[in-house]
Amino acid sequence: MKQTHFDYIVLGGGISGLAISLELQSRGEEVSLIEKSDKAGGVLQSIYNDDCYWDRAAHTLAVDLELLTFFQRFNIEDLLVEPSTVAKNRQIVVNDEIHNISNHPGKILTAKFLSSGAKVNLLKELFKKPVKIPNPTVREFFEYHFGKEITENIISAVFSGIYSGDIEKMEMKAVMGNIFQMEQESGSLIRGLMKQKDKTQKRKIYGIKGGMEHMNRTLSAQLSNLELGNEVLEIRKVDDVFYLRTAKGERTCKQLISCLPAYNLSNIIFKSHQELSVNLDEIQYNPMILIHVAFDQSSVAEELNAFGFLCSQYESPVLKGAIYNSSLFPSRANGNLVSYTIFMKPKAKWLDNKERLDREVDKVLGQFQKLTKINGAPIHKEMTIWKQGIPQFNKPYESLKFQLIKQAESIPGFTLSGSYISGVSVPDCIKYNLRLASQLVKK
Ligand SMILES: Cc1cc2nc3c(=O)[nH]c(=O)nc-3n(C[C@H](O)[C@H](O)[C@H](O)COP(=O)(O)OP(=O)(O)OC[C@H]3O[C@@H](n4cnc5c(N)ncnc54)[C@H](O)[C@@H]3O)c2cc1C
Repeated sequence: MKQTHFDYIVLGGGISGLAISLELQSRGEEVSLIEKSDKAGGVLQSIYNDDCYWDRAAHTLAVDLELLTFFQRFNIEDLLVEPSTVAKNRQIVVNDEIHNISNHPGKILTAKFLSSGAKVNLLKELFKKPVKIPNPTVREFFEYHFGKEITENIISAVFSGIYSGDIEKMEMKAVMGNIFQMEQESGSLIRGLMKQKDKTQKRKIYGIKGGMEHMNRTLSAQLSNLELGNEVLEIRKVDDVFYLRTAKGERTCKQLISCLPAYNLSNIIFKSHQELSVNLDEIQYNPMILIHVAFDQSSVAEELNAFGFLCSQYESPVLKGAIYNSSLFPSRANGNLVSYTIFMKPKAKWLDNKERLDREVDKVLGQFQKLTKINGAPIHKEMTIWKQGIPQFNKPYESLKFQLIKQAESIPGFTLSGSYISGVSVPDCIKYNLRLASQLVKK
């Protein structure tokens, strides 16, 4: 008979759920992971055809020693693949043109797309005192340090790329807590970063050989109790036991860990924990569309030797950026093909109107081709639509998160996790869950 009671049940088999389940299992705990779709990995999916493959969400990971150790322990170290040397070349779009950009302040001083006033602001930053605005947004924080032009052209491009976010709403403390802290001590960001340079842990960028899906398969194959294709519909707690109504019958456990997106968890606890459910609904997820394309090499007038480009919310509200896949990882496109992924932030109303959406996608593809000087129609074109893609750390996120964790703690045996708690990057999700597993086992 199938086992239905476990010490631990983890909800949601994205990378957060995989990481915590593997860690608990490796520490000798009895754990079951329940995932509603028929494969693990959550948003970390890939698309394959005879000529190319693309990732549908994360393309690269910033790997430090802690993450590398995880990769070694769970036998996925061999899947890490270094991008080609062009990865160090970064680009942004300013005034309808692609420009190379360095992350070194000294080199930014030579950037042609910045006015002399903006460059003077960069120099003046060295003498700044800590920002006085209480709990600033990302825009307020960086505008205080570098002025309007650098914030609108460069800072916004970075946050558009990572979060598809709006810097006028994002809470600085929540998205870059360590930088905020450093600034409160050093005043100038440039001076603070220079001081920290040798102290910060070295991180290296990698992709996953065969795509992110390959990593999920290797990780999930190591779990003893993985239930794919089973949706959790409702949770109740009676005495010390959690009762889970699932599409495949009842499951029970002593300890329950949610690695679901906030909006999914909100639905299934609405009846039992209404207050927590209402607060979970406050976490906003922005929609995102990825257009995956491949062209014949002959269509490309100028070789794109870079990681890709980012586009600020002020430059373009819809086009967010692009990754030059086959420039980074040549094995991702066969023969004469070159492949790219374009990121766009659709308006919510386009998502329910296929014709309108197709038109907008074509517009963004046209914008990309104009910027990159690529001619003709793509040989392959695929699309990934994330209606609720990335959680937004908008003000007042920190106080909301504090409340969510407190409310969860008031339900003994229940633990909240997932990218809206840990931070959105794959490394953040993995590292947070490894630490969480260790704390739970020690309790
Ligand atoms: C477009 C995009 C690009 C990104 N790029 C990068 C990048 O380059 N680098 C990087 O480090 N990070 C990147 N990220 C972020 C990163 O990929 C995610 O934050 C991370 O993968 C989230 O993992 P998760 O497990 O927390 O959530 P998810 O992946 O959302 O997993 C949640 C799981 O819960 C399951 N589920 C939901 N409801 C139920 C239910 N009722 N019962 C059972 N199961 C359920 C879902 O099916 C899903 O599998 C990107 C994200 C997106 C969307």
